[in-house]
Amino acid sequence: MRLALPLEKLIDQLLKLPGIGPKTAQRLALYILKMPLEEAGQLAQAIIRARKEVFPCSNCGYLTDTDPCRICQDQSRDRAVLCIVEESSDIIAVERTGYQGRYFVLNKDFNLMEDNDLEALQLKPLIKKLESGEIEEIILALNPDIDGEIISRFLADMAVKYGVKATRLAYGIPVGGDIEFTDEITLRKALEGRKEL
Ligand SMILES: [Zn+2]
Repeated sequence: MRLALPLEKLIDQLLKLPGIGPKTAQRLALYILKMPLEEAGQLAQAIIRARKEVFPCSNCGYLTDTDPCRICQDQSRDRAVLCIVEESSDIIAVERTGYQGRYFVLNKDFNLMEDNDLEALQLKPLIKKLESGEIEEIILALNPDIDGEIISRFLADMAVKYGVKATRLAYGIPVGGDIEFTDEITLRKALEGRKEL
């Protein structure tokens, strides 16, 4: 027997979300059906409002509802240090460390193995910043995978051309981790990022 058409349509929409398979989509849809109508309306409104009002900051790429974003507007932050991340959600993680510099978000789902297209990265605002002479250091905080490696190398080479120092996060062995069972990429990164005692 077929599901009621509106329910089927809701499941189809939920299925488009990342990490949602058919079973989860069905469970979420049935949950939504049991919500009070007002709550379901609030969920729908929140989706529409976020989609309409949130956009990447024209200066740094962070998802914001003001342009420039609040981080770019904050005069107390260090203009000389720029942390480069893949997604806005990475900023939330770096902010927790108490970092006081600024950011540049690449906002790109890159898959260089497939399209090998560094040109697709929107780097003009970044190049403008490097040209301005106010940046002294870029910190590359990209994910430690192959794409992150290639892009970090590319951006580090670019920074050097403008006389800007490029550093990267030292990827460490997690606290409580065991050297014996640490994968080689993590261990190599930890070695590269070693600090003097
Ligand atoms: Zn910004």
